[in-house]
Amino acid sequence: YFTSNTVAFVDGEFVAAEQASVGVYAQSLHYGYAVFEGLRAYHTPGGTRIFKPQEHFERFHYSCQAIGLPLNYSVAELTEISYRLLEINGLSDAYIRPLAYAATPNMTLKCAAAGNLLVAVWDWGKYLGDQSLRLTISPYERPNPKAVPIEAKVAGHYANSIIASSEAKGRGFDEALLLDMHGYVAEGPGANFFFERDGELFTPPAGSILRGITRNTIIDLAREAGIRVTEKFFRPEELRGATGAFMTGTAAEVVGVASVDDIVFEKPFSQTLGAGLARLYTALVTGQTVAAGAEATE
Ligand code: PMP
Repeated sequence: YFTSNTVAFVDGEFVAAEQASVGVYAQSLHYGYAVFEGLRAYHTPGGTRIFKPQEHFERFHYSCQAIGLPLNYSVAELTEISYRLLEINGLSDAYIRPLAYAATPNMTLKCAAAGNLLVAVWDWGKYLGDQSLRLTISPYERPNPKAVPIEAKVAGHYANSIIASSEAKGRGFDEALLLDMHGYVAEGPGANFFFERDGELFTPPAGSILRGITRNTIIDLAREAGIRVTEKFFRPEELRGATGAFMTGTAAEVVGVASVDDIVFEKPFSQTLGAGLARLYTALVTGQTVAAGAEATE
């Protein structure tokens, strides 16, 4: 992720990443009481462009508010810091990781009075790779939305993601697919899920998922292409008879799904709607086409 030359933004300063540290009594470290975002920048004909910074940093603010963690940077400032950091580190195609946390020594369970911010960047290939994934239904459910604000990207929620993902890999699968507390398919540890049947796409609705920015982008791209997308609750058995499936996320981008346990999808990913949408997504993020949902001027 970093070398001795890598620069990170930590509490108002651009510093050597390897020299930055967090204290032993930092509240966030003990309780997972922190918030993060994940953005990508792409090399485009117009130079380096961060994809949907407004959406990501608004969600960052929402997440901090949801857990009462102070964040003293505006969306515009966060965007500017990110671009500056990419420039300093000489990165164009890169992943950007803002983290809001509480570094103040505090072992209580009270909301932090002050917040800290770091932003780190690194070169990251497609997080789940390029090959179609073999998923398995996880024995771990997504966190109950009545227990935690599930639509917030809270660091602590990712203990659930880590254990689900490692459990799936331990059984020889590529990744986990998690159900919600009612037994409906929710999402992967770090990506949303779609399946295709009879030329239509289906994806779980808001409720027990992180409403991914990539998910929203794919829904927009699909609808613009005349593909019907339905948000609905469904159980894993409903995947029988599906022709294809894929996962979406900033880090994962759009990646095909070959199977979920013993359910093998009919078509190879390359022949599914998902593959076409993956191409449209790449064209969009790399500036070959205009933003989905952007005002059409002609
Ligand atoms: N679900 C979870 C649990 C995630 O961590 C992510 C990654 N942020 C996503 C979905 C996809 O969200 P996005 O498309 O905004 O990256």
